[in-house]
Amino acid sequence: MKDIDVNAKYGLPNEVKFCRRCVMSNQRPNIIFDEHGVCSACHYVDYKKNIDWQTREDELIELLDKHRSKDGSFDCVVPSSGGKDSAYVAHELKDKYGMHPLTVTWAPLVYTDIGWKNIQAFNHSGFDIIMGMAKGDVSKRLCKDATIEMGDPFQPFIYGQVLFPIKIAAKFGINLIFSGENAQAEYGGKKETWDKKGLDVEEYDKVWFSKLPYNSWLEKGYSQNDLEMLIDKNILEYDTKGIKRYFYGYFKSWSNHENYYYAKKHTGFIPNPERTEGTYTRYSSIDDEIDPFHHWFGLIKFGVGRCTANAAREVREGYRERHEAAALVQRYDTEFPSKSFPAFLDYTGLSEDEFWKIADSWRNKKIWIKDGNDWKLKYQVS
Ligand SMILES: [Zn+2]
Repeated sequence: MKDIDVNAKYGLPNEVKFCRRCVMSNQRPNIIFDEHGVCSACHYVDYKKNIDWQTREDELIELLDKHRSKDGSFDCVVPSSGGKDSAYVAHELKDKYGMHPLTVTWAPLVYTDIGWKNIQAFNHSGFDIIMGMAKGDVSKRLCKDATIEMGDPFQPFIYGQVLFPIKIAAKFGINLIFSGENAQAEYGGKKETWDKKGLDVEEYDKVWFSKLPYNSWLEKGYSQNDLEMLIDKNILEYDTKGIKRYFYGYFKSWSNHENYYYAKKHTGFIPNPERTEGTYTRYSSIDDEIDPFHHWFGLIKFGVGRCTANAAREVREGYRERHEAAALVQRYDTEFPSKSFPAFLDYTGLSEDEFWKIADSWRNKKIWIKDGNDWKLKYQVS
C-alpha cells in the first residue's frame, strides 16, 4: 500500500515539540503552541481559572428554568455511553437541577464486559436509555473502510455518536441536548473556541467527521438504507427547528478526574480491574473493544498515544507532576493493544498481514524510524 502523507493531510508542524507544561506533542492536530512552548490546552486551564463559574451556573439555571418540564416528561437529552462523563452530566441535571433527562446511547461497536456492566449500572441508578445500533454488517464494513481510508477505525462510531442523539431529540420534541466538555477548548483548539457554548451543525464535518461528511459514504457505494441510522439528511432542519446542543463544560468546570469520582459515587460506575493497554488509567474510554485502535492509529499518525492524552490532562488538572507524566508516557504510550487485537481482526475481517500493511501506510515516517523489525519513535517527551 502507498504511504499516506499524514503531515500534509493534517497540516502538522515540521519540527516535533512537547509542551513545557504538560506532556502534549505539537503533532496533535489543531493544537497550538505559543513562543514559550506552552500548548493551547494548558492556556485554556489558566483561562478557566479566571472564569466566574457562579455566573456560568446562573446562566445554566436560567436555561434549565426555561426548559424544565412540569409534568415529568423528558426535557433534555444527554448523549451517554454509560461512561463517567455523561453519567456525571445526566445525574447532576436530574439530581441537582430537577431536570428529566432522556439519555441516548450510541452503542459501542463491540461492547466490552466492563462497558456493558457500566451502562447497566447507570440504568439501574435511575435513568431511561434509548440505545441505537446500526446494522452490524454495515458497521463492520465501514469500520474496515475507515481504517484503510482514514487511518481511524472509529469514524463510523462517531457519526452515530454525534447524530443519533439529535435525531432522537427531534423525535421526542426535546430542544435541549447536553454533551460533555468542549473538546476543542479542553484539548487544544484555537482561542476563539474557548467560550463556545456548543457546536453548530455546520461545524460537525470539520470538527468531528475528519472533513469527511457522512453522506460522502453514499458516493463510496453505501446505500441510503445501509446508512439510515448513521447519516441524517434532516440534520440542518433539526437545527432550525430550535434544537440546541450545549457543552455542559461551558457551564460547569470540567474535570475528567472529578467526573470519575462523581460517577463512582452516584451511578455505580466501576473502573476496569486492570489498566488499559497503552496507558495507566482504568476508567477512560473502556466500553468498546475497537476504541483502542482509534488511539493506536493516533499514535501511528501523530506519535501521540492515549497515555499522552491521559497524562497531559492530569498534569493540567493538577493531579500529577510533569516529570511523573513523562515517565508514564515513556513507559506506556507505544504499547500495542494486543488484548483487543483478535476482536478487532474478527470485527473488521482483516488478516493480520493486511492490518500491518494498512498501519504501515499510515505510519508517519517523520516521527517513526524502523529498527530491525520494529518501529521506534524518533522523539519522545523527556
Ligand atoms: Zn500543555
